[in-house]
Amino acid sequence: MHKFNCIYKVLGLIFAPKITKMTNRTFTMIKPDATQKGNTGAILEMINNGGFRIVAMKMLHLSSEKAGEFYAVHKERPFYGELVEFMSRGPITAAILEKENAVEDFRKLIGATNPANAEDGTIRKRFAASIGENAIHGSDSDENAAIEGDFFFSKLEQF
Ligand code: GDP
Repeated sequence: MHKFNCIYKVLGLIFAPKITKMTNRTFTMIKPDATQKGNTGAILEMINNGGFRIVAMKMLHLSSEKAGEFYAVHKERPFYGELVEFMSRGPITAAILEKENAVEDFRKLIGATNPANAEDGTIRKRFAASIGENAIHGSDSDENAAIEGDFFFSKLEQF
């Protein structure tokens, strides 16, 4: 018995770090256009069917200040004003999602920024109207996923 316990402990030390690294997280927002069109449920179903586990979620209406802060990296871009106005136009659903290879797989599920270039079967292909009003956000790196998740959720709200 003692021998087996030792073997399990050693195996645990070898494999545990790999197992915990396999699942990671991304951050998403269902944007005001999709909320207004009543597409929230259908989008959540696609997220669910894509194998993502929701580990935090809330619906809220961003102020223009908060939307501007979230998209501060785009401050110098010509569409920044339009983007801030759009993102504070109505309620959004913010969520943190967990899955193996979450960031990359979620970017694949949402599709290209411009729905005209999005592949069939992607969320943006199905629900986005234009490059600006493109239904959904997905983090572009593990680092930004953590920053963006913390922007909306306290540690107590992340499960
Ligand atoms: P994403 O990572 O695919 O969301 O794309 P980006 O990080 O490049 O842009 C962030 C968001 O800004 C996009 O999802 C769009 O909502 C918006 N956006 C990007 N390009 C344009 C544009 O040319 N015009 C407008 N109006 N909005 C844009």
